[in-house]
Amino acid sequence: MQHRSFWLSETLGDAPDEPPLHGAARADVAIVGGGLVGLWTAIRIKERDPACDVVVLEQDICGGGASGRNGGEVLSWWAKAGKLVDLCGREEGVRIAQASVDAIGELEAFCTAHGIDAEFHRGGYLWTATTAAQLGAWDSTVELLRELGAPALELLEPEEVARRTGSPVHLAGVLDPSAATVQPAKLTRGLRRVALELGVRIHEHTRVTHLDRRSPAVLRTPAGAISADRVVLATNAWAASLRELHTRLVVITSDIILTEEAPERLAEIGWTGYEAISDSQVMIHYYRRTPQGRVMFGKGGWGIALAGRLPASFDRHEGRARDVEANFRRIYPNLAGVRVEYDWCGPIDRSYHGLPIFGRLGGHEHLIYGVGWSGNGVGPSLLGGRILASLALAERDEWSTSPFVGERAGRFPPDPVRYTGAHVVRSAVVRMERAYAAGRDPRPWDTFLAGFAPAGIIPKTTRRADG
Ligand SMILES: Cc1cc2nc3c(=O)[nH]c(=O)nc-3n(C[C@H](O)[C@H](O)[C@H](O)COP(=O)(O)OP(=O)(O)OC[C@H]3O[C@@H](n4cnc5c(N)ncnc54)[C@H](O)[C@@H]3O)c2cc1C
Repeated sequence: MQHRSFWLSETLGDAPDEPPLHGAARADVAIVGGGLVGLWTAIRIKERDPACDVVVLEQDICGGGASGRNGGEVLSWWAKAGKLVDLCGREEGVRIAQASVDAIGELEAFCTAHGIDAEFHRGGYLWTATTAAQLGAWDSTVELLRELGAPALELLEPEEVARRTGSPVHLAGVLDPSAATVQPAKLTRGLRRVALELGVRIHEHTRVTHLDRRSPAVLRTPAGAISADRVVLATNAWAASLRELHTRLVVITSDIILTEEAPERLAEIGWTGYEAISDSQVMIHYYRRTPQGRVMFGKGGWGIALAGRLPASFDRHEGRARDVEANFRRIYPNLAGVRVEYDWCGPIDRSYHGLPIFGRLGGHEHLIYGVGWSGNGVGPSLLGGRILASLALAERDEWSTSPFVGERAGRFPPDPVRYTGAHVVRSAVVRMERAYAAGRDPRPWDTFLAGFAPAGIIPKTTRRADG
């Protein structure tokens, strides 16, 4: 049986599964993927055009993918301002980054308006350094934001960083106050409920096995087929198996451990806020506390998938979980004795530049995709849903015409070169980061190879990965 995240296990039972698709059906818009991206897209389409007949096809249950497994860190794209400016120019780059901030406020308002208790807490994003080598990882971004007149990252005193994180292992950091944290499965399942209330038809346990790319498109499933005027592919890492997107994405894992509830221990070390925290490693560590006093601690980038196939080790991997726990113990020696109760993992659809890519599959107007969230999709998926809704409704607006939409992201080499190369680079990154964590200088060859790691949350120049 599939290994579920703690978040999803805690949330399931909220509603019966929606029935699989049986027989032939039709829709104005068929969305493949019932995660945050697919559900926000469905909701935005219905809000704009209630008469539009929207169907979501989900191979598992809504939230069974990354959306119900992630760390729940709701981040803006300020940290990616450099890449946004490269892609869209200064004005549009700032507009998109600001829209990602606005999305966090809209997320909170949406949850309130629709009675979704997603445990939303706005504590900001603390981007920290936990080794000397990580110091100043944010400098170029802070400088750029100043130049752009958008000083969104506040430099904190080192003592303040150690105080807020509850651990003196944190040497320095900057704060993006716009960020928040959520229980991600509650959010995703809440969106599912709202989508159904708006009249979206959802078929769970319905895997799309074939996409006929003609117009109207036909999506085949094990027990049926649906013909649709427009198709939105919101299939995250699974999209890497499509021939058109194969070289646009590298699929890696992100692994999470979750401790027992220990609110008194967290209070003792002063970790009482709701900051979403990360270090500045290439294989990033990201962590936060939950309202119940658990610690969620995750690490991105360990497992690598071949040809978009996601084996069971993308649900859970005990060996990797032990490595994640060792890193948690290193960063929080003062939480010794607090037990780890759960672990799980999930896939990350990392694009070359670390931002999502929106476009038309094979240039077909009616086949739209939004993938490549690169481990930063919880907040941005709301914005992504807006962009995909504009594309699906063929509206000409600031979203569909933005230079952000298009195919400018770089490409990876095809498998098996990509798979082999990714392992070589990953091994070098691991050796380099182990050396830094032990206070040693890494071998120059490892540092050189690590430079080939693709960008994640943060532009490549700052050498960071993603959640
Ligand atoms: C462990 C982990 C930690 C993360 N932490 C963070 C974080 O703290 N903050 C952050 O912002 N982001 C984080 N992310 C990333 C974030 O979860 C994603 O970017 C976001 O959820 C993307 O949503 P999605 O809808 O694209 O993907 P998903 O939720 O994966 O949805 C895609 C859906 O498509 C379905 N599907 C695939 N193929 C088919 C098919 N052929 N037919 C039918 N259905 C199909 C899948 O079953 C899946 O449910 C994390 C991800 C992981 C895995």
